[in-house]
Formats: sequence, C-alpha cells, structure tokens
Amino acid sequence: MQERLQTLKEEALTQIEAASSMKELQDIRVAYLGKKGPITEILRGMGKLSAEERPKMGQLANDIRAAISEKLDEKTQVMEKAAVEEKLKKETIDITLPGRPVKKGNHHPLTRVIEEIEDLFLGMGFSIAEGPEVETDYYNFEALNLPKDHPARDMQDSFYVTEETLLRTHTSPMQARTMEKLNGEGPVKIIVPGKVYRRDTDDATHSHQFMQIEGLMVGEDVRMSDLKGVLQSFAKKMFGEEREIRLRPSFFPFTEPSVEMDISCFNCGGSGCSVCKGTGWIEILGGGMVHPNVLRMSGFDPEKVTGFAFGMGPERIAMLKYGIDDIRHFYTNDSRFIKQFNHI
Ligand SMILES: [Zn+2]
Repeated sequence: MQERLQTLKEEALTQIEAASSMKELQDIRVAYLGKKGPITEILRGMGKLSAEERPKMGQLANDIRAAISEKLDEKTQVMEKAAVEEKLKKETIDITLPGRPVKKGNHHPLTRVIEEIEDLFLGMGFSIAEGPEVETDYYNFEALNLPKDHPARDMQDSFYVTEETLLRTHTSPMQARTMEKLNGEGPVKIIVPGKVYRRDTDDATHSHQFMQIEGLMVGEDVRMSDLKGVLQSFAKKMFGEEREIRLRPSFFPFTEPSVEMDISCFNCGGSGCSVCKGTGWIEILGGGMVHPNVLRMSGFDPEKVTGFAFGMGPERIAMLKYGIDDIRHFYTNDSRFIKQFNHI
C-alpha cells in the first residue's frame, strides 16, 4: 500500500510538471485528490490494516495529498505569473516613437497688428474705448458734422437696421459718445479699435466688414504739430525708425483742416517701386483737427479747447507690413494663411 501511494505521488508530480494549461492542472486536481480519486480509494481500504499500521498509513496518505496539493498551487502561481507577463509584453508602449505633434494655434495677423497699435498708443497716454457696432444715425453721422442729406454720406453707405439705426461705418461715433460723458471737461485721449461696415462689393482691397482704429485727442492747445508728432511715432514704430511721414491736404466732414498721411516707402526707401506705385510714398491714414461743430455738439467749447482725430485701417497696415495681397484672406479662415504668422 505504501508503495502504491509513493507511485501515485510520483505520477501526479510528473503530470503537474508537464501540464501546460490551467485546465490540465484542474483535471489533475480532480483525478488525484477528488472523492473518486485513487488516494481516497486507498484510504477506504485501510480497514484491512492492523491497528498499528493504520495511523502510519493514514499519515502517509495525508502527506502525499498535501504534497500534490502544494505542487498544484505552486504550478498554478507560476502559470498565472507567466500569463500576466505575456499580457504586459503585448501591451508594451514603445516610448522611443516620437510623439504626435499637438496643433498649436497662433494669433490672427490682424489681432497682432491691432495689439501692437494699442500698445503704442497706451504708451503715449491714450486709453482704449469700445462702442456698439449697431449705431444710431445720430452718433454715426449727425454728431460728426454729417447732417442728413450731406453728400459725404454717399461714401459711407451702410447696412440699415431701421431708418435711424445702422451698422456703424467707422469707429468715430465713440468720439461723440466719449465727449458727451465728460460734460465739456477734458482732456480726452482715446483710441477706438473695432469692426465697421460699409455697403462695398468685396474684392482684393474692399470688404463689407473691416477693422478701424480711431484716435482722438482733445484739450487746451492741442495743435496740428501734436497730430504730426503722434503719427510720426506711430509710423516709425510700425514700419521702421527711418520712416518719414508727409501730410497732404484732404477733406473729411468731421475735421478741419483735414489731412492724408503718407509714409516714405519701406520697400524702396523712396526711389519708387511697385509697393509705392513709383511715388516713393504710401498712403496710410486720414486725420485732421476736430471740426468745431463736432466739439460743440458733444458739449465742448471750441473757443477753449481744440483737438485732433485720425482713423486707420488695420487691414491695410497688416497688408503693407506683411505683404498680404488680398484683404479677403483675413476673413476666410484658411488656417494655411493664419499659420504663416505664428512667428510674429
Ligand atoms: Zn517703394
């Protein structure tokens, strides 16, 4: 009986060693240690043994059961560990692969130009004012010395919401709105950036919607030479220290006298090229001394204070500065266009 038990033990251990799956291990467990297994059967036959031999044989049978059970547990653990390792191996992330580049946005070129201009004027003591894009006829035209039926209104036809409200054609209405609030007490030093609208047919240089930056300074003894000084600083900052400016007489209903400002061509330095159309000068913006009527209508006394105003188009400045050939690029949201400006 003892011999039989030893043989069973060796058989079982050899099978466990050779097993290659959890299913096989389970089958071996049932076969050797189950209720119908050979060890249980041997134990049942112990009644035939002498009282002396019985406990010894019982002990041996239990030891063999324990040994087989232990070996099964051990093998199960080894196989479980191997399975986990196999799984980890399959799921390994190859950290030597370069990462996928994250698409990073950048500022729109117009935003950059506007911020640059704002910074410059903030540095000169101006503050930034913003106003409504849907404006009344009064602030958009009348308060700026453009009464109803004034012929200059033709140059600024717009989109009307009602007879008396429209999409503003310039950011100049903020001149009147700002001055009214001050009840005749200056000084005023503001710039007004924002979107404006005109009933224009879109082409390479026209857009029905564009940006404008208005500037206004009102106070005692504000002179044309102050306007010139401010515009000179602006031209040098935006287009280079060696730029010169010139003022040409012009007409605007809200300024008197009125001027157009040109800068010396940054491309050819003045000798004439395609950028300046051979003239050596590039037209940049319009301005002038605030018309006494405009001051009066907004509650300021033109006998006591004077002022200058100017208005510029950031699109035109960006187009010149960065060599952009079509105003529509700014508004078509083509990321290939926008991305070209991620270095500025
Ligand atoms: Zn030129």
